[in-house]
Amino acid sequence: MTLTVGVIGLGAMGAGMARTLSGGGFSVQAFDLAEEARAHMAQHGVTIAENASAVVAACDVIVLSLPLARHVQDIIDDAFAAGALADAGKTVIDTSTSEADISRQLAARLSAAGHGFLDAPVSGGPQGAATGSLSMMIGGDAAAVAAAQPVLDALASKVIHVGASGAGNIAKLVNNMLVACHMLTTAEAMRLSEAAGLPAEDALRVINSATGRSAISEVHFPTWVLNNSLNSGFSAGLMRKDMRLALELAQQAGCDLPVARMVAQLWSQDRSGLSDNDDFMQIADLRNKAKLD
Ligand code: NAD
Repeated sequence: MTLTVGVIGLGAMGAGMARTLSGGGFSVQAFDLAEEARAHMAQHGVTIAENASAVVAACDVIVLSLPLARHVQDIIDDAFAAGALADAGKTVIDTSTSEADISRQLAARLSAAGHGFLDAPVSGGPQGAATGSLSMMIGGDAAAVAAAQPVLDALASKVIHVGASGAGNIAKLVNNMLVACHMLTTAEAMRLSEAAGLPAEDALRVINSATGRSAISEVHFPTWVLNNSLNSGFSAGLMRKDMRLALELAQQAGCDLPVARMVAQLWSQDRSGLSDNDDFMQIADLRNKAKLD
């Protein structure tokens, strides 16, 4: 039986996921609040539903890709109110980067109504979403993972079932805290190298064969910094959100993170000069020597 899959949130990530699923032979229904996002998706053979609850009602597996946990909560609240979750047996895959405690609450609420819920945040950016090559870190029970497996396999080349509900988001926030740190430290290292007379591309060639390397030095700098394109598809606003959530998680866990607190401060609009809509790579613009001084 072909699964009917819903995608709610058709932004930088959700649009690519909907296209990947549609291209992978699933029957896809989708919705986004933004008219432009809906129109774009309709051109790619995806059926656009009347609203988010209509997607939930029509689909076996529903993929969410939304900015904040409260958007996810609103969609689940609306779906219950509209009766879209009356028939048991659906699985919600929340790929949004979100809070572990909210994921646990949603999983419990959906489980009580006979549905599965996975916190399944992703890494790999719009490119990974569009090519089905995301890395996905999953929190939730094994039965929900099994029910969603064909969809997970279509979206991601690496699916890691980390643990119980909430574990996916803990892993994602820890990962993205490192991304935020690596962006700043790699940019500083490149500025130092250039100021001292060694071009950034030469320094990167060495770093990527040595112990200072990271995904930021191996992928982001060669792809988006050295050519000054600075357009990775991940916004400064989302990076700030991830740092805020990581620091909130640290507070809940009774963990003091002085470096992460400083990094969050450096990412703030006042310090970086970036608006929430700017691409996060702009913080590493090597042409702007004044940034973060
Ligand atoms: P985005 O802002 O490009 O897209 C979000 C979409 O959700 C928008 O089109 C918006 O109109 C829609 N939306 C908001 N509220 C809605 C609602 N109530 N109902 C329906 N649609 C609604 O964001 P994005 O970059 O695609 O990120 C989505 C999620 O994925 C975020 O949680 C982000 O942290 C995470 N993420 C993003 C990236 C990336 O590289 N962009 C990578 C990994 C994870």
